[in-house]
Amino acid sequence: MEKRDFYEVLEVDKSADAKTIKQAYRRLAMKYHPDKNPGDKEAEEKFKEAAEAYDILSNSDKRQIYDRYGHAGLSGQSSGFSGMDDIFSHFGDIFSDFFGGDIFGSRRSTRPPRPPRGADLKVQMTVSFEEAYTGTKKKIELEQRKPCEQCGGSGSAPGTSPETCGTCQGHGQVVQRTGFMTMVTPCPECNGKGTRISSPCSKCNGTGKEPYTRSVTASVPAGVDSGMRLRLAGEGEKPDVGDPGDLYVFISVEEHPTLLRNQDDLHFEAEVPFTRALLGGVIEVPLVDETVSIDIPRGVQPGDIISVEGKGMPHIGTTHRGDLHVLVKVTLPEKLNKSQRKLIQEFEAKSS
Ligand SMILES: [Zn+2]
Ligand SMILES: [Zn+2]
Repeated sequence: MEKRDFYEVLEVDKSADAKTIKQAYRRLAMKYHPDKNPGDKEAEEKFKEAAEAYDILSNSDKRQIYDRYGHAGLSGQSSGFSGMDDIFSHFGDIFSDFFGGDIFGSRRSTRPPRPPRGADLKVQMTVSFEEAYTGTKKKIELEQRKPCEQCGGSGSAPGTSPETCGTCQGHGQVVQRTGFMTMVTPCPECNGKGTRISSPCSKCNGTGKEPYTRSVTASVPAGVDSGMRLRLAGEGEKPDVGDPGDLYVFISVEEHPTLLRNQDDLHFEAEVPFTRALLGGVIEVPLVDETVSIDIPRGVQPGDIISVEGKGMPHIGTTHRGDLHVLVKVTLPEKLNKSQRKLIQEFEAKSS
């Protein structure tokens, strides 16, 4: 069967504007909607035909190609919907736009098309042990590109404007024919823009973009650890149209000179004088923002571990803290004076 002209399918004039085309499609989609014509093969065909016509004519690039080259120009681009579900997922947002609410029930789109979005950015951030313990705010400088101020993003020197690309006559696309195949590709001369810059802007060299530094403040929560990743929604690349991407901050925490971290727990090696190990007593353990007194029980042994609950690192996003584990290292004096030696000798004599 000969493929019908898309304008004929939508029953609109060749000069119809976007609004008219949308209205025409809406009318036909309502009329031939499968939920209104159950089991009607002809209605289903008309519904598909209208969807394909609308897919092409609602897209100004595709419409231009179709206007110039007809159906042949669109081979490889034409949607050629394979089934009804295809149409519903493709036009999901249009249908909800058209019909609002849920007139056609769950048949409608299950997967609305995603709008274009800026790229996600990734940065590394080193925080000190103390900052990881207390949480902090840190400024991140992002090297970005924005539309050039001198030329307003056009890339053309002020007072001049881009000229129509001679290779594609401003269409941005070229048609290549090899045998029976027709292929439409972006114009290699102008990269699909349809225009060419004759006198480039001096500030941006015709790119239309200039670099600038954007500052973002990241809230680093207490308890972050190396290998964690913060996501700053909407702080990624900000495109001219569409939503911005996200910024991902990869955290690396510096080591502490005396405290060793294992997830939420902290480990500390305490030097306990042998007399205090024998007699019992108290030692002080300096943490980040406090000093903790640890009771050394009488008779503690080298290598014993004394644990204190809730004196470790904050657990991210909670008020809970890990534990502190103090490893006992008993220190012996290297030299004794006369009276000390006498005492130890007495001690030895009484020990046997
Ligand atoms: Zn410029
Ligand atoms: Zn071109």
